[in-house]
Amino acid sequence: MLKFPIYLDHNATTPCDPRVLEAMLPYFTEKFGNAASRTHFFGWEAAEAVTIAREQVAALIGAEPAEIVFTSGSTEGDNLAIKGVFDRYATKGNHIITVCTEHNAVLDTCRHIEKEGGEVDWLPVNSQGLISPDELESAIKPSTVLISIMLANNEIGVIQPVQEISRIARAREVLFFTDATQAIGKIPVNVQDDGIDLMAFSAHKIYGPKGIGALYVRRKNPRVKLTAQIDGGGHERGMRSGTLNVPAIVGFGKACEIAMLEMETESKRIAGLRDRLEGALIRLEETYVNGSRKHRLPNTSNLSFKYVESESLLMGVSRELALSSGSACTSASMEPSHVLKALGLPDDLAYSSLRFGLGRTTTEEEVDHAISLVAKTVARLREENPLWEQFKQGTVPN
Ligand SMILES: *Cc1c(COP(=O)(O)O)cnc(C)c1O
Repeated sequence: MLKFPIYLDHNATTPCDPRVLEAMLPYFTEKFGNAASRTHFFGWEAAEAVTIAREQVAALIGAEPAEIVFTSGSTEGDNLAIKGVFDRYATKGNHIITVCTEHNAVLDTCRHIEKEGGEVDWLPVNSQGLISPDELESAIKPSTVLISIMLANNEIGVIQPVQEISRIARAREVLFFTDATQAIGKIPVNVQDDGIDLMAFSAHKIYGPKGIGALYVRRKNPRVKLTAQIDGGGHERGMRSGTLNVPAIVGFGKACEIAMLEMETESKRIAGLRDRLEGALIRLEETYVNGSRKHRLPNTSNLSFKYVESESLLMGVSRELALSSGSACTSASMEPSHVLKALGLPDDLAYSSLRFGLGRTTTEEEVDHAISLVAKTVARLREENPLWEQFKQGTVPN
C-alpha cells in the first residue's frame, strides 16, 4: 500500500529512525541532567550518556572520542572549521582554497572570510562535478591555511577524490577540512584512511534529530587548533561553549551506531532502487544525468528533463511526490543551481533539473510510482511547450 506523498528528498533531511527516538526519550524527562553538573547523580547520568554517544559518533568515522566537538549541525560545523582555522592560524597566512560547488554554508562562510581580509580561491569543477587535483596543487601558496572541499555534493551526489586531496594537503602542510554531511552513513568515511583534519556532519541527514551535529578536529599528526566562535563555559574542550543538548546527542549517537551496522546492506539496496529509477527515467527523450555516475553517492540522482521547467514539474507531481530541484536552501529563489552552472550546464538544462534523494524507507513500489508519475508529467508539460513541438519537428533553434 502506497502512502502519499512519497518522500524522495533525503538529501534535504531524513525522518528520525524510531530506534533513535526511543533512545532519546528518557533524556527529556527523567534523565534531564546537565552533562556539566559534576556534583550530583543527574549530571553524572547525562555525562555518561554523552560519553557513550561521543564514542558511537567517533567510531563511525574512525576517530577518537576526544576529537568530536558537538555542534548544532553542519552549518555550524562549517563555520567553526573555516572561521576557527582562519582566526587561529592568522600568523601563518590568510589564504583558503575551496570549490564552486560547495554547500552555501561553506560558500557564505568563505565570502565572510573575504570581507574579513582573507583571500579565497574557488576551484572550478569539470563537467562531471569533480575537481582537478593538479589545479588544487597549483592553487596552494605559502599563505594557504586551509583547503575546504566537500566529500559528497548535496545536489548531484558527486564524491570528490578525498584521498588524493589529503595527500596533496599533507605534502604541503596545509589543513584539510571536508563537509561530509552527505557522505556519512551512505559510504564508508574514515578520517585516518582519508587523511582528513577537520570534518563536519549532521544528525538529521542520517536519521537522527535536527539541530545536532559534530565537527571532527584532529588531535595528532597534526594537532589542529581552532579559535572558538561561541565563547562561554568552555564546553567541548573550549571549542564550542553552551550546555550540551543531551537528548539530541544521544539520538545522534544511536543514529551513528545504526549507520555503522546497516550502511553496507542499506546502501546496496538503495543504489539498486536509484539505478532502477534513473535507468527508467533516462529512457525518456532529452533526459540527462547531471554529474559523474561513477563517483557518486548510492542514493542520489540528479536529472535534467529538457523542455520542462523544474518548478512546473515539481508542482505537477507535488501531491504525490516530495522532491526538489536541488538544494533546499536555494530552491525558494529562482536562480539556477550554482552547482549545475559550475558543471557548465546551459540555463535551460539547469532550470529543468530534479534531484531524487532515496533513503532508508524508500521501497520499490514507491520508485515505480515515481517513475510513472514523473514520466507522465514530463510528457504533459512538454505537450504544452511550443519549443518541444519545434524540437520534434526538427526546427528548434539550437
Ligand atoms: C544539509 C547540509 C548542510 C547543512 O547542515 P545542517 O545540519 O542542516 O546545518 C551542510 N552541508 C551539506 C553538504 C549539507 O547537505
